[in-house]
This record gives sequence, structure tokens and C-alpha cells, in this order.
Amino acid sequence: MKHVDEYRDPALAQELAARIRRLSRTPARFMELCGTHTMALARHGLHAMLPPTVSMVSGPGCPVCVTATEEIDRAVKLARTPGVVVATFGDLVRVPGSRGSLAAQRAGGAAVEVVYSPLDAVSLAAKRPEAQVVFLGIGFETTAPTVAAAILTAEQQGLKNFSVLSAHKLLPPALGALLSGPDLGLGGFLCPGHVTTVIGTACYEPVARERGLPCVVAGFEPVDVLASILMLVKQVEEGRSEVEIQYQRAVSPQGNPAAVALMDRFFEPVDAPWRGLGVIAASGLALRPEHAKWDAARRFDLEVPPAQDHPGCRCGEVLRGMLTPPECKLFATACTPSSPVGPCMVSSEGTCAAWYRYRREE
Ligand code: SF4
Repeated sequence: MKHVDEYRDPALAQELAARIRRLSRTPARFMELCGTHTMALARHGLHAMLPPTVSMVSGPGCPVCVTATEEIDRAVKLARTPGVVVATFGDLVRVPGSRGSLAAQRAGGAAVEVVYSPLDAVSLAAKRPEAQVVFLGIGFETTAPTVAAAILTAEQQGLKNFSVLSAHKLLPPALGALLSGPDLGLGGFLCPGHVTTVIGTACYEPVARERGLPCVVAGFEPVDVLASILMLVKQVEEGRSEVEIQYQRAVSPQGNPAAVALMDRFFEPVDAPWRGLGVIAASGLALRPEHAKWDAARRFDLEVPPAQDHPGCRCGEVLRGMLTPPECKLFATACTPSSPVGPCMVSSEGTCAAWYRYRREE
């Protein structure tokens, strides 16, 4: 197939779903590790096309959702700092921290700007020489190289008023932490196409070989997702556990070494807090000491009191695949997309938002 429309072909999607229904005999619960897959499954009604033997559960794949409350609190403190402009992606400004969100700070007069890319934040810094522009960097290995490229651009432009508050996360350590936790009864993983485009497939090999869990790297259109689930079901029925790539038009086993090298030039792994998973060793990215001048964590006082989550929000369990959103007492009552209590309802890739928009009638 050459055109994206072909990956949205309803007849092909129906045919793939029929093949899954014919083939699946063994009950299997697969986890999707990417918020875009969570949304694609819900938006296109793919759950309803699967047989009772196959179910999908969301994992910690939504970058906004896994950002820890303390990281939001630090960004809120920055936004309250005179002379600082905090620039970040749209969803993140609405995520509640212990003492309000970035959106609330903005409503109170703080300088919080929504940008569409890290390079927009660099442009903002060039246009606002009187201000210190701090880009709040979140996301996985897909986003981190673009932030590294933005720092490189700021360096080339000789900017002195740009820095990055890094809350980036790395997927493989989180996958390891998830598998070391309580048994979730998983039968395999729908692996993230975008992240794997950068890091390649090596990190899934131990999951398949040692844990016996099939891994399929999936694209994001409905036909991609169903074809990937079919590949997972085939492995289960044939007693195999291997790493396979459905999203071959974008992903190679080696990933993108140039993007990884750019990321490694500026960032190094550090222990990082995850919502729902706690602190995971070497699962975040901090700027390397030789690039300290771009590091907002070194340039500003970001000490904050201990974080406090909303006591009723169950995002942590939702992100670990232990709970579905309707099992949270606040779902669709106190917590809705227009009045979100937790990040899983804020984010356009959040599991609670996906259930609220597309699966409330189930
Ligand atoms: Fe948190 Fe709202 Fe989801 Fe409940 S429904 S887990 S409060 S985001």
C-alpha cells in the first residue's frame, strides 16, 4: 500500500477483523504502549471489532499522562518566576499539579505560551530578548531529538535567554518496571511505531525471548492496528514470542542512529519520576553537564514542596493497565475533558479521555 487512505479502508479493516475472529482461540490480553494507539483503537471502534478472546489494555504510553505531578509543580514555579516565559505543548498546560496548572497560572497573569514544536520556543526566545524562555520538554525518545535539535539551533543563533526543563522519559526502562510489577496477565505488546522509529527494536527482544511475550511494532491507522493485532494473535496461536514489525514503512530494526546520536549529544539518562510507576532508574533524560547553560533545572530555583495528587484520581492504576477509566469513581462525573481531574482525562492521547469520547456506552 502506498497511500494513507488505504490504511483507513473500511473493507480491509473488516477483513482483518474477520481473520482475527477466525484465528483467535486462546484468550489474550495485549497492552498498547502508545497513547496514539489508545486513541486510534477508541476513535475507530476497533475494540468492538475484536472477538471476546482478544482484549486491549492501555499502558504508560501517553507522554502528558506519565509526567509526574512534581514535574508540573516545578513548571508552575517557573511560570511564577518574574521575567520567565514557560513554553510548552497545549495539553500539558491543563494538567493539574499540586497547586494548580500552568493554565491557571496563565489566567493569573503568568507568561505561559503554547507552542507546536521546540523550535517555536527558540523563535520565541529570539523575539523576546528581555525574557528568559524555558521550554518544558516532555515526551519519549520521539520528541527528545527534536528538543536536542532546538538547543542546537539556539546555540547556532547565540541565544542566551533559552533553556529547557527536561521531563523526558525513556520507554525501555518503563517497560522493564512494568514487567517487574504485579502480573497483569498480558499476552503481548502492541509496540509504539514512533518511538521505535528512533530507538529500533532491540529493547523488545528480551521481552519476547525471556518473558515469552510477543511484540509487534504497529502503525497508527486502523488497518495498521488491526494487522498488528492479527500478527500478535498469530504468534499466540502458533506458540511463538518474537519481535515483528508491522509498521515497516517507517520502522527499521536499527532505528534512527542519527536521531539517537543527537539526543545523546545533549542528554544523559537519569532516574526519573513517572506518574503511576514511581521513580524508575535511568528512565529520564537530563542535559549533560557540558550543556548546563541550556538546563533550566540548573539555572533556576526549582525546589518545590512534596507533590500531592488528587486523592480520588486513579490515573496511576490506569497507566499500569490495572484499572479501566469507568472503574474510577470520578470518571464522567467530577472528571470530564472540560473539567479534568487527572492527566489521563486532559491529554488528547489519554486513556480516560479516549473512554469518555468514544466508549462511554460500553
Ligand atoms: Fe484520574 Fe479522571 Fe481518569 Fe479518574 S477519570 S483516573 S480522576 S483522569
